[in-house]
Amino acid sequence: VFAEVVAKKRPFGMAASEEETEALTGLLDVARGLENLPVSAWPPGARPAPFQYTPDHVVGPGADIDPSEITFPGCTCVTTSCVPGTCSCLRHEENYDGSQCLRDMGSSEATYARPVFECNILCQCGEHCRNRVVQRGLQFHLQVFKTEKKGWGLRTPEFIPKGRFVCEYAGEVLGFSEVQRRVHLQTAQDSNYIIAIREHVCDGQVMETFVDPTYVGNAGRFLNHSCEPNLLMIPVRIDSMVPKLALFAAKDIWPGEELSYDYSGRFLNLMDREAKERPHDEKLRKPCHCGAKSCLAFLPYDSSCTVPW
Ligand SMILES: [Zn+2]
Ligand SMILES: [Zn+2]
Ligand SMILES: [Zn+2]
Repeated sequence: VFAEVVAKKRPFGMAASEEETEALTGLLDVARGLENLPVSAWPPGARPAPFQYTPDHVVGPGADIDPSEITFPGCTCVTTSCVPGTCSCLRHEENYDGSQCLRDMGSSEATYARPVFECNILCQCGEHCRNRVVQRGLQFHLQVFKTEKKGWGLRTPEFIPKGRFVCEYAGEVLGFSEVQRRVHLQTAQDSNYIIAIREHVCDGQVMETFVDPTYVGNAGRFLNHSCEPNLLMIPVRIDSMVPKLALFAAKDIWPGEELSYDYSGRFLNLMDREAKERPHDEKLRKPCHCGAKSCLAFLPYDSSCTVPW
């Protein structure tokens, strides 16, 4: 029963060929059959530059923990759905409501997002437990499309209610020295896909996670930045201590709307304030074309990746 939850995705390396999926759907499946829903590309015949598709994080150079290893024990709940108080996975309150919506969408006053722990492969509860959402994979169709000014972007042909899980930002999990090396090799024309998540754990300790979907990644790598994003990123842990970077709808999203998030983490303060206040390297800054009223004119750039601290 528990294996089914994770077995919906094809194992890494067993992707369907482009020809196979295009023949079946009439459209290129960017995910190559690796997601539980195909990710189409628009216009037909257009192909984003090749990269290796993975629905889940993979271990990259210098990573402390292999994200595919199971590091958490499961709960012993034998009820249909886990409830706070008795379930060891739900220490504080429920993460999701009965409609698979994230309950705590964060507020502008909150300094940091509350971490989410989902039930995992070792939990005794069933696959219908409410505390299993991100692990179910894509629930809405996504489409990679050619934008006017921003290269490729990601949109949805479906209505997505506020709070629902949209997709992960998955890629190679890297160590800090590898991040520095890769950032150092970037030119001003290269897109920077590397994301740094700093989480404040107990005793003033900071846990850092670096994810790079440049070479190996999922549909999340096509998301553009917006100063008024419709997605927010929450670290979600399932089987591993390495968080999945899960993107949830921050508001109701209409069919055809471009999906975006705030690269700076400003929307949910995922990066620490110190990093945000560091001076920006002006020559590496790129103009922002999000079109929002509150647009800051430039894309955020996390200069902390280039400065050892
Ligand atoms: Zn459960
Ligand atoms: Zn439980
Ligand atoms: Zn559990």
